Amino acid sequence: MSKTIQAVRGMNDILPADAALWEYFEDTVRDWLRAYGYTQIRTPVVEATDLFVRSIGEVTDIVEKEMYSFEDRLNGERLTLRPEGTASCVRAVIEHNLLYNAPQRLWYTGPMFRHERPQKGRYRQFHQVGVESLGYDGPDMDAEHILMTARLWKLLGLQDVALEINTLGSSEARARYRERLIGYFEQHAGELDVDAKRRLHSNPLRILDSKNPAMQALVEAAPSLMEDLDELSHMHFEQLQAMLSAAGIEYRINPRLVRGLDYYNATVFEWVTTRLGAQGTVCAGGRYDSLIEQIGGKPAPACGYAMGVERLLALLQEQGFQPPALAPDAYIVHLGVVADALAPLAAEQLRDAGLAVVMHCGGGSFKSQMKKANASLARFAVIIGDDEALAGEVSVKPLRGGGEQARMSIQAAIDFLSL
Ligand code: ATP
Ligand code: MG
Repeated sequence: MSKTIQAVRGMNDILPADAALWEYFEDTVRDWLRAYGYTQIRTPVVEATDLFVRSIGEVTDIVEKEMYSFEDRLNGERLTLRPEGTASCVRAVIEHNLLYNAPQRLWYTGPMFRHERPQKGRYRQFHQVGVESLGYDGPDMDAEHILMTARLWKLLGLQDVALEINTLGSSEARARYRERLIGYFEQHAGELDVDAKRRLHSNPLRILDSKNPAMQALVEAAPSLMEDLDELSHMHFEQLQAMLSAAGIEYRINPRLVRGLDYYNATVFEWVTTRLGAQGTVCAGGRYDSLIEQIGGKPAPACGYAMGVERLLALLQEQGFQPPALAPDAYIVHLGVVADALAPLAAEQLRDAGLAVVMHCGGGSFKSQMKKANASLARFAVIIGDDEALAGEVSVKPLRGGGEQARMSIQAAIDFLSL
């Protein structure tokens, strides 16, 4: 016998038992985004490899070692399963000229792919909800992003998420800082790990994003970019902080926060929790004013962020959150020739009235059907025997919270169940 085939390592099935949690999250997110005027964009899961190399940056974890890249067997094109959503979103905006008339507030959701070492909160296929605002240059938009995420945590009832912010300044400021940083790390060359040594001259800022515990003390003591900050970025950052304070948002400035992707400038932020172990960042983003131009569009400022859905759901579960059950209003139990013929028609009538109805399929005794009705978590069993069917009626039996079984017309049942 051949070995059974299993899911690819680090890529998870989301089973029916978790459907209620995922759908609760997705419904909440959709309403929340509508409340802020964001419109969804859907892009393909596969893109030209070059898109990610050019946007995320060659000397980053993602591009160096995490991308699922392959060659199209037919035409040799180099393709990649998207590791994140911003690059695709920006590509689509440029391709379809969406910034021609007006700035855009966009959002996306879907699976992302990174070849990482699977562990709790870190998978090879995971899901993000991302938000991108394109064509906005002021700190008001950075503040909107942070305020809206704070509202989402409140809507979800998430506890213990804290905001960290930083500014990466202009590219000139980063160039100055880069030199200082190289100097500092060169002085401590002996303490650098292999990744850091390799990045010392190609991308020293990335060293600050190291996940290696042995590097943390060195990173903590590294010089801060603040001293090199340009006037404009300084003002932008001050204004953002004033807006956050005015809105009552607590934050911590973390000068080591640089983010794992190269396209960021000025504002960067992360929402972190201590309740998920090492995988504590549930949402991250910032400003990427040069990305649109970098991948071939007309220059336009932009900022955005993405949240890790698995991590947010893990946090909700950790808090003991119970999503509302996905239970039907009624389960239709039917027995007898005339009843079997009426049942699907009655079910459709109930659904016409907006009720969620599961009709028993597959026959069986009254007792076994009632067992299934109970297991379905439906509020009511709608029972149809030949007696009822011949009279054009049904019996309604409450399954939760008591109450007597009562026989009534289908219309009366609809009125009763709709209460
Ligand atoms: P980390 O520092 O944890 O590797 P990152 O900086 O690589 O995260 P981003 O590219 O900013 O992550 O992605 C935004 C969010 O997506 C993260 O904050 C996290 O919640 C989630 N995320 C990123 N990679 C994974 C993964 N492999 N598995 C699950 N969630 C992930
Ligand atoms: Mg990462």
